[in-house]
Amino acid sequence: MTDSHAPFPKPVQKEALERQRRRCASCRTIITGLGRSGAQQHVFGEGVEAHHVIPHKLGGPLTPENCVIICRACHLSAHQGGRFADVSIYNDLKNLTMLAKIARIAALYPHYRG
Ligand SMILES: [Zn+2]
Ligand SMILES: [Zn+2]
Repeated sequence: MTDSHAPFPKPVQKEALERQRRRCASCRTIITGLGRSGAQQHVFGEGVEAHHVIPHKLGGPLTPENCVIICRACHLSAHQGGRFADVSIYNDLKNLTMLAKIARIAALYPHYRG
């Protein structure tokens, strides 16, 4: 995962989580805290992680718009087994502004806004 190379600052993660109305952006599980702080309340006992909508390597910024907070399992799925394993989804975005790129990929997260 590329995330560890460019971690989102905590205030940015908090803003993203509020935008999501404290739900996982992927599966809508209730998230009560960042990192492992809400793991005990999580339905599967998982911590949560911050994921780049547009990967940092592709120029994705460390802003709330480019940040989704998702369960650990949802994060693994996003990278390894899910639709984001297919990096060709980013190829169609080449001529868009960064904000438009983020909006396009963010739309793939059903609970980006809770
Ligand atoms: Zn990630
Ligand atoms: Zn989830």
